[in-house]
Amino acid sequence: MSRTVAFIGLGHMGAPMAANLVKAGHRVRGHDLAADAVDGAARTGVEAAATAAEAVAGADLVITMLPAGRHVLDLYDTLLPAARLGTLFVDCSTIDVADARAAHERAAAAGMRALDAPVSGGVVGAEAATLTFMAGGGGAEFAEARPLLEAMGKKAVHCGDAGAGQAAKICNNMILGISMIAVSEAFVLGESLGLSHQALYDVASTASGQCWALSVNCPVPGPVPASPANRDYRPGFAASLMAKDLGLAANAVREGGVHAELGLRAAEVYAAYAERVGAEEDFSGIVRTIREQSGEHA
Ligand code: NAD
Repeated sequence: MSRTVAFIGLGHMGAPMAANLVKAGHRVRGHDLAADAVDGAARTGVEAAATAAEAVAGADLVITMLPAGRHVLDLYDTLLPAARLGTLFVDCSTIDVADARAAHERAAAAGMRALDAPVSGGVVGAEAATLTFMAGGGGAEFAEARPLLEAMGKKAVHCGDAGAGQAAKICNNMILGISMIAVSEAFVLGESLGLSHQALYDVASTASGQCWALSVNCPVPGPVPASPANRDYRPGFAASLMAKDLGLAANAVREGGVHAELGLRAAEVYAAYAERVGAEEDFSGIVRTIREQSGEHA
């Protein structure tokens, strides 16, 4: 069924996601603060709206893809009064679990329905419509959003109530951040012991050390030709985004009183690393920092 969708936030992720909704036959009214983002989206068939409120008026669903929680909450103050009562608001941004729950509450108080549905898969996944969506909210809301999520991705998982999508996202990325540091430390330890990258890879990738950070995004060049290490660590998944996600996980760890030493330490390690390299390097480039700090330059 063709729907009218308001899409707010047409950046690196939002623009290709909106384009995939158009391709799937939906009417998409898009808005972004950046005029060039709107122009780019218009070339893919998105109808340009002059304001966010104009995009939302009369839409069946509203999708937001914004940098952080404060952008989502600020914008909801404008969007909620402009929407038809009962409209479904789907926030795909990666934001704090507490902010996501606040967004659900504001939507409900305004007579709207809501879903948090952050994604994994990056810009490549957004372009190829192979994202994974992790959704939090009611079952009816998930069922309504599902055909749209599946037009932008390959998988949509209903994780639970309000905020559960964001919770799944930060838990997953906490595993990823910690495991990338672990794999990188193991390669640098192997170097100091005279072990070749290939030998460690051949053993660990088929033994109990196997994980995505090793077998897909291998932080040293050679064993996995498609990994960012083979192109001087061009992202991929930028260090700044990993630092952001680990920061959100660390907030939740502290708020929940959870004993997660490695999660908190990984957030510190990536915050310091991202301060130096920002979005220029893939997060697997952390191996170079570990090597430098070890006094090794292999
Ligand atoms: P981006 O900065 O490229 O895009 C965000 C867009 O939102 C920008 O174009 C900005 O102008 C717009 N915007 C900000 N405030 C606005 C407002 N009030 N009204 C209208 N537009 C507004 O960021 P991105 O890479 O597309 O990421 C978006 C979200 O997706 C983030 O929460 C990020 O953490 C998450 N995410 C990104 C990736 C990735 O690989 N880039 C992967 C997974 C999740």
